[in-house]
Amino acid sequence: MSIKLISVTKIYTVKTSENLKYITGIKELSIDINEGQYIVVSGPTGSGKSTLLSLMGGILKPTRGEIVYHNIHLSSSRDEKISRFREVYIGFIPQNIILNANMTVAENIIAPNGFLKKSLKSLKSETEKILEKLGLLNKKNWFPPELSGGERRKVMVARALVKNPLYIFADEPISELDPESRDAVLDLLREYHENGSGIVLATHSKIDVGTKADYYIMRNGEIFFSGDKQKEW
Ligand code: ADP
Ligand code: MG
Repeated sequence: MSIKLISVTKIYTVKTSENLKYITGIKELSIDINEGQYIVVSGPTGSGKSTLLSLMGGILKPTRGEIVYHNIHLSSSRDEKISRFREVYIGFIPQNIILNANMTVAENIIAPNGFLKKSLKSLKSETEKILEKLGLLNKKNWFPPELSGGERRKVMVARALVKNPLYIFADEPISELDPESRDAVLDLLREYHENGSGIVLATHSKIDVGTKADYYIMRNGEIFFSGDKQKEW
């Protein structure tokens, strides 16, 4: 199963007081992500990394071009079919942290995954396993406002991984983390990768993902470098 982007362009329309402004997020980008691939997308802020991940994850729709999940063409498929695919196969870690302040850490992780064909018991034990690896098990019954930014980031990571997704899209998953926590998150991602998940990780800083990966560097909405080694941009 693969995810294909075929000549995808995303243009944001922003209303200003006088007129409409069009901002290019990404330009005519074609890229295939295969199950089991590890892609690291880097580049300066504003280069289009988050736009690219949101398009791949089905959170944004392209302005032009086509996205194909396995055999589902996004432009011509019903929304429920697309949602279903996303729910089951895609674990998305967004750049912005969004957690429910009235739910505990464990509830925040489990609630969005309630549709999975898994018992609550197995979801709970999966959640605990992941929290332990992230050094956060002792806070499973805490509430997000009681956590640091880095700890909240880890909850976002756990929430995306607990479904054991076929694809993981991680947008700046290690920002705000101390070195030990960074290693814990990257080790966990590597573990999922070793178990077959495809990963696309966006980062604005140089990182070592600890395994073989393909590297893309973005600039102005385009991929201007790809290779098997990380490079400065
Ligand atoms: P990165 O993740 O590499 O920092 P983004 O994908 O967030 O880059 O942004 C790429 C470009 O798209 C930027 O020029 C940014 O201003 C624009 N952009 C991103 N999100 C929006 C939005 N919601 N509305 C308007 N413009 C946006
Ligand atoms: Mg970004």
